Amino acid sequence: MRINIRLAKRLEKVNPSSTLAITAKAKKLKSEGRDIVNFAAGEPDFDTPDFVKDAAYSAIKDGFTKYTPTTGIPELKKAICDKFRKDNSLEYESTQIVVSNGAKHSIFNALFALINKTDEVLIPSPYWVSYPEMVHLCEGKPVFMETLPKNDFKIDPRDLEKRIGPRTKAFILNSPSNPTGSVYAEYELKQIAEICAHKKVFVISDEIYEKLIYDNVKHSSIASLSKDIYNLTITVNGLSKSHSMTGWRIGYLAAPEDLAEAISRVQDHSTSNPVSISQKAALAALNAPDEFSRLMNAEFQRRRDFALERLSKIKNIGFIKPGGAFYIFIDISKLKLDSLTVASRLLEEKFVSLIPGAAFGRDDYVRMSFATSMDQIQKGLDRIEEWMGKL
Ligand code: PMP
Ligand code: GLU
Repeated sequence: MRINIRLAKRLEKVNPSSTLAITAKAKKLKSEGRDIVNFAAGEPDFDTPDFVKDAAYSAIKDGFTKYTPTTGIPELKKAICDKFRKDNSLEYESTQIVVSNGAKHSIFNALFALINKTDEVLIPSPYWVSYPEMVHLCEGKPVFMETLPKNDFKIDPRDLEKRIGPRTKAFILNSPSNPTGSVYAEYELKQIAEICAHKKVFVISDEIYEKLIYDNVKHSSIASLSKDIYNLTITVNGLSKSHSMTGWRIGYLAAPEDLAEAISRVQDHSTSNPVSISQKAALAALNAPDEFSRLMNAEFQRRRDFALERLSKIKNIGFIKPGGAFYIFIDISKLKLDSLTVASRLLEEKFVSLIPGAAFGRDDYVRMSFATSMDQIQKGLDRIEEWMGKL
């Protein structure tokens, strides 16, 4: 029963997460026995590795079930510093690390600590669904920068320079990107870094898909490119994608010490520490050799190549080759239907779930996740082709 509660104004512009809602709907239909092909999922379909689960069982058995320091246990923060040094050529002290309940929480905390009412946050579009909503929750103003398929959906640094105004406080960078899969090269990041450092704009660098990058391309962390940009960057990462640990809720950020300290105060008074048991699991994941993500990466590359080959045979759609993450952003503009109609009809008529591009700022696209088996990819794309053939 609805009783018309007078909500806080800051919620007026905030929408529910359609990625989470559609993924949940697809999972529910599947559990009810419907033959759903789930291309909506924003999570790896692999199980969390056993050695990670074992660390969690041990934590429970050993009674490691109490509050921990708010920003994470010292050994996990040390493992995160080691990871940054090894993978990203980044030197951070433990005092610069805050472990949170997922990378989503880390990004929210960073915005909450930085953004004043009416501050502007630059967001390249297409964007991950939660960025603008988080900025709204912090009472800031998202400012979108359109990107084009012909530029691999990457921003032109000259455009960035032009768009930075007196109210611009931060820029959100996501490479590899959700939903487009585009990956910025180091020279492109250098140009962005120079501009942001010159204009004193913070960079929130969401690197959650770092380990899912294809064709032997190397991921670069923008904070590693100069001292000036290091002092303005919040580097965000987590275990959800690299170790298939979406439900465990462990993400982390690294920032200049005074900003990390401010973020820890936000967390002190909101959630306290992330789950003690998940922290032990994350420690085991980070301290192990990278074997798991490497195997997952190889399998995702195989699926991506297969899906692209199959998609290229379907008439009236387009795409750019994703260099990372596990999404293909499919151009449906020739169908002359909006993205919600296409996604809803495919779900109802063909039992294929996709995310409408409108959730990411492009109503002429849909997002397909290839975090599902080869058989499912084949079956789903056959159904999409059949459906499009009858339009
Ligand atoms: N950033 C991007 C771009 C994402 O797609 C996601 C979705 N999982 C997240 C951050 C958040 O991940 P998590 O909170 O599970 O660590
Ligand atoms: N990030 C994933 C997605 O885009 C998971 C869902 C979410 O956290 O929004 O589908």
